[in-house]
Amino acid sequence: MSITLDLSRVSNAPAVKAPVNLSGLTRAGLRQALIDAGVCPPEKAKMRASQVWSWIHHYGVTDFAAMSNVAKDMQARLAEHFTLTRPEIVERQVSKDGTRKWLIRTAPGIEIETVYIPDVGRAGALCVSSQVGCTLNCTFCHTGTQKLVRNLTAAEIVAQVQVARDDLEEWPSPKEDRRLSNIVFMGMGEPLYNLDNVSDAIDIISDNEGIAISRRRITVSTSGVVPMIPELGERTGTMLAISLHATNDPLRDVLVPLNKKYPLDQLMAAIRAYPGLGNAKRVTFEYVMLKGVNDSPEEARALVKLIQGIPAKVNLIPFNPWPGTDYQCSDWKTIEAFAAILNRAGYASPIRTPRGRDILAACGQLKSESEKLRASAIRKAEQAAA
Ligand code: SF4
Repeated sequence: MSITLDLSRVSNAPAVKAPVNLSGLTRAGLRQALIDAGVCPPEKAKMRASQVWSWIHHYGVTDFAAMSNVAKDMQARLAEHFTLTRPEIVERQVSKDGTRKWLIRTAPGIEIETVYIPDVGRAGALCVSSQVGCTLNCTFCHTGTQKLVRNLTAAEIVAQVQVARDDLEEWPSPKEDRRLSNIVFMGMGEPLYNLDNVSDAIDIISDNEGIAISRRRITVSTSGVVPMIPELGERTGTMLAISLHATNDPLRDVLVPLNKKYPLDQLMAAIRAYPGLGNAKRVTFEYVMLKGVNDSPEEARALVKLIQGIPAKVNLIPFNPWPGTDYQCSDWKTIEAFAAILNRAGYASPIRTPRGRDILAACGQLKSESEKLRASAIRKAEQAAA
């Protein structure tokens, strides 16, 4: 059989480059971008970048025309070369308990989940994603069942904070009485596999003349990419969280398969060396409670031994089952008994209250649910058309 290729509709026009979104540039990057685009001469770039920065990150504007202390001709040059457009919000849900969740589309096929949880941290925490999907296949995690599509850019990470701030009506960036006070990189993906963009996004989010969320209120959670942990500390100065879930290698190899590459002794050594650890900067260990798997009193005692000497707290996370998983959540009494052993050893060990269950706020759930709904809508439309 011969195949003929129809090339008549293939365009020879050069691909149009999407304008750069200024929200994802660090201060230094913004300065350079203004110079490179000829928006202003190099000797004025620092001052101009500072003005533009304040409009983007303090006032949250999305239109260059709103930058009232920037001359009209410069506004026009900015609009010609750059954009401040927010991504599309595919779905927005608000739970009975105040949890808010957005499914954000930043580009075709690039959909990100972001969740705001009130009354966490000082006032409320935003759980941001660093990748679309994940490569790591932790067996208890729903996101682990979704293939990695790609790393998010710094602009896409910052956009999650901007979308939340828009929705919470927190522009200009308030210094006090904020609803969004903390950021946790605990959404989709492994942040340390995207450290360049995560680090740029943290520089932007923590800048005092912008969104101004202190590095002490930003937590980056890793499943244990040991070689990158020192670099995370040096580059970002943020709080460290470890997705631990087991106290011995054989079990952790199953729950967090990355453990086969970086076993517990290496992981614990990297944690102990994390810069600046002390009572004001404690490591958070995340421990998902899986019935009959990792929830015995012996496990709790082994955990105390494992983390001995590390300024730490342990977040106990009741497992939130998802379709297709074999794991079950530990009984409440078992979780409390586990927490009591940690508490007696001097470790704060809050049991995370399940939040936003009515809106599928667990990591990975909204995206796959909305994909399922869309697929079924498409199927129905196709059937109707047939
Ligand atoms: S727990 Fe984190 S690192 Fe592991 S599969 Fe889920 S998203 Fe990836």
